[in-house]
Amino acid sequence: MAEHLSERTRLLWLESPTNPLLGLVDIAALSALAHQHGVKVAVDNTFATPYLQTPLDLGADIVVHSATKYLGGHSDVLLGLVAVSDDELFKAIKFIQNSAGAVPGPQDCFLTLRGIKTLHLRMERHCDNAEKVAAFLAAHPQVEKVFFPGLPEHPGHDVARRQMRRFGGIVSIWLKDNTRAAADRFASRLQLFALAESLGGVESLINHSYTMSHGSMPPKEKARLGIREGGLRLSVGVEDIDDILADLAQALQA
Ligand SMILES: *Cc1c(COP(=O)(O)O)cnc(C)c1O
Repeated sequence: MAEHLSERTRLLWLESPTNPLLGLVDIAALSALAHQHGVKVAVDNTFATPYLQTPLDLGADIVVHSATKYLGGHSDVLLGLVAVSDDELFKAIKFIQNSAGAVPGPQDCFLTLRGIKTLHLRMERHCDNAEKVAAFLAAHPQVEKVFFPGLPEHPGHDVARRQMRRFGGIVSIWLKDNTRAAADRFASRLQLFALAESLGGVESLINHSYTMSHGSMPPKEKARLGIREGGLRLSVGVEDIDDILADLAQALQA
């Protein structure tokens, strides 16, 4: 990591867990290293939410969220936020917000504030359901690989245990049949999961990252990152877990 920092580096931008394959980054270790080089650290905390992970406590300087996701929680608002714990940084960012005019509307603020009131309840349920979905899919013969930080074999499992309260509600998979047709068949057969680019709503959502959220990424880059034609990202909702598992089981039937 240190070899990527030069005297020209001003900001280290981190995301943990990452979209869509749930990579983990050791926020405390990288923050300490960046600070040794006089570099500030920003963390995209969208997947974890402030309920599961608080990067400012781990040494980060700036936290950003897509409040469109879990904070709003109901797939009905587009909003983002920046959090800092330093007054100087706050004033600098506030100045940019004010002069650039990135001011949210009152209805968006209302919906987000209302969503945040149940964040802790929703996140516990998202985490409960995602753990069961990950275990179910990991044992399924049609699934090649499951990406979920809660699985002991996940390469970031130990880091996740250290810096997160629980493992979140997103589960990604590679189907054994690595084709767009197989991904399409699975996604279209699902009754409960809506096909969507977004995530973090109370309802279960499924995303074909290869053609949707990461559609504009060059194929070579997708191959490098493991974003495959037969890969899907599930945002596990707060529905009854038996309904979710039954839906996945029928959609995966040969
Ligand atoms: C959705 C998302 C964004 C972008 O947020 P918008 O609210 O859609 O602008 C940024 N980072 C992550 C990790 C996201 O999931």
